[in-house]
Amino acid sequence: MKICGKISEIKKHLKTEKAKGLTIGFVPTMGYLHEGHLSLVRESLKMTDKTVVSIFVNPTQFGPREDYQQYPRNIQRDTAILEELGVDYLFVPAVEEMYPSGYKTYVEVTDLQNKLCGRSRPGHFRGVCTIVLKLFNIIQPDWSFFGQKDAQQAIIIQKMVEDLNLETKIKVLPIVRDKDGLALSSRNTYLSPTERKAALILYKSLQLARQLFIAGEKKATLIKQAMIDLIHQEPLAKIDYVAIVKMENFEELEIITDKALVAVAVFIGQVRLIDNIILSEKEKTHEKNNAKK
Ligand code: AMP
Repeated sequence: MKICGKISEIKKHLKTEKAKGLTIGFVPTMGYLHEGHLSLVRESLKMTDKTVVSIFVNPTQFGPREDYQQYPRNIQRDTAILEELGVDYLFVPAVEEMYPSGYKTYVEVTDLQNKLCGRSRPGHFRGVCTIVLKLFNIIQPDWSFFGQKDAQQAIIIQKMVEDLNLETKIKVLPIVRDKDGLALSSRNTYLSPTERKAALILYKSLQLARQLFIAGEKKATLIKQAMIDLIHQEPLAKIDYVAIVKMENFEELEIITDKALVAVAVFIGQVRLIDNIILSEKEKTHEKNNAKK
C-alpha cells in the first residue's frame, strides 16, 4: 500500500494507474476505522481495480463547539488494517495541504444542507461537500463508496455529483451494526459502559418504527410520537431530532405512502449519535412473506 500525504504525489500515481486503463475506487473517511468503514473498502476492492482510502479529519465540517480536537485518531492502527485488507493507496493529507492559508472556496447543496443534521450542525454539510468535492477532484474515482449510516450525507453527495456533472458513480452501502444493534461509529468510543447500554435506544426506536409500519401503521406522526415516547424512557438520552421524511428532499411526511427515511439524532450524555432506517411498502411485503415461511 502506498501512503501519500501530498496531493501532487497521489495524483501522479493515479494518473499512471488510469493510463493502464485501470478503474479507481475511493472510500473517504475520517479514520479510526471500524467494520462500517471496512465494508465500504471491501466493496471497492471487489468492484474496482485500485482502491484509494483517504483519512482526513476535516476541520470545516465541525462546528466551533464540536469535537474536532477530541475526534479519535489512530493512524498507525488504521494503516495496518488497510494494508492487511489489500488497499492500494492511502491518502492522508495534512490540514494545510487541503486548506492552505488563504483558502476561500466552499460548496453548498442548498436547502438539503439545512434539514435534519444540518439544522443542529450549521455549516456541517458545507464542510462535507467542500472536502468531498476536493477529494473527488484529486482522486477522480470511477466509483466512490459511502455508508447509509450518514443517510443525509449520502443523499447530499449524490445531489452534488448530479448537479455538478461529476464523473464518479456513487454506491451507498448498508449500516453495519454491533451484535446488539448499535450502529458502528468512531464516536461510540466516547461512550462509558452505562452510556453504551443507553445508546441502544436509537436502534430500539427505529425497530419500533419498523414494527408499527409492518403492522400496518401509515401515519408518520403517530410512529414518530411512539419513537419519541420510547426514547424519553431512557434517562441518559436527549433527543436532537426524530424525523420521518421523504428520501429526496427530507420533507416531513404525514402519511407513509411508498418510502420513508426514519432518522434519529440523540445525545447520550455529551455524545451525539445518529441512526436511520428506510421504510418501504416493497420491503413490508417482503417481510410479511418471510414471516409466513
Ligand atoms: P466517517 O469516517 O465517519 O466520516 O465515515 C466514513 C464513511 O463510512 C461514511 O461514508 C460513513 O457513512 C461510513 N460509515 C460510518 N459508519 C458506518 C456504519 N456503521 N456502517 C456503514 N457505513 C458507515
